[in-house]
Amino acid sequence: MNLILLFPEDFVSERIARLSGRRLDHMTSVHRAQVGDEVSVGLLGGPMGRATVTHLDAEVVELEVRCEQEPPPKLPLTLILALPRPKVLNRVIAAATSLGVQRIYLVNAWRVEKSYWKSPRLAEENLLQQRILGLEQAKDTVLPELHLKRLLRPFAEEELPHLVEGSLALAAHPGSPEPCPRAIGSPVTLAIGPEGGFLPAEIELLGRSGFRPVDLGPRILRVETAVAALTARLF
Ligand code: SAH
Repeated sequence: MNLILLFPEDFVSERIARLSGRRLDHMTSVHRAQVGDEVSVGLLGGPMGRATVTHLDAEVVELEVRCEQEPPPKLPLTLILALPRPKVLNRVIAAATSLGVQRIYLVNAWRVEKSYWKSPRLAEENLLQQRILGLEQAKDTVLPELHLKRLLRPFAEEELPHLVEGSLALAAHPGSPEPCPRAIGSPVTLAIGPEGGFLPAEIELLGRSGFRPVDLGPRILRVETAVAALTARLF
């Protein structure tokens, strides 16, 4: 937690916030905070800055908050991610958030196991929590959008064509003849497949919305590694 994210309900007055639970525990056990110390804070969806610890006991920490700094800009990147298996999901969402991804679509694909869609990790509460962890890690305050699309075909046929407008659409697919481009800088919509990869028919379906299949080299990466490697290569 490199930044303590604050929510409107934390504030007891305009500049004083009171925290307990996870954030208090982190401040005492990791930061070893004491009265008078300064910590990095940010307002969810708003500016970031510093806060002074004005009170600390076993139950609550009180902070005097000054936030005037803009959060870092997001990358102009939309991820279309085949739903990863539950164990991996949390890490991928937090990592994509830390990397500055603007929008994430979790979609179905043939090689996504049906049971993954029943995972409690898909609960809104958990998906929010993972993005919060990603923001706190990266020192950011703005949540990436997150959408769940249980049916690939209608999503690909009806929504994707609009979604990719004004962006370079790429589908990461090992063995494609075209290498993934580097340092694009301008908007990208990037599709990443499931552990078993996309089917040729899915690459074709994405192709109808303008996605070009691209290769990232001979090493097959895990989804969370592929997200990081592709993002670093594109921006
Ligand atoms: N078993 C699959 C690989 C799946 S890896 C196969 O052999 O084709 C999971 C996803 O990560 C892939 O669908 C792709 O989107 C991305 N990925 C991983 N390594 C990659 C590489 N070397 N090139 C392009 N995409 C890659």
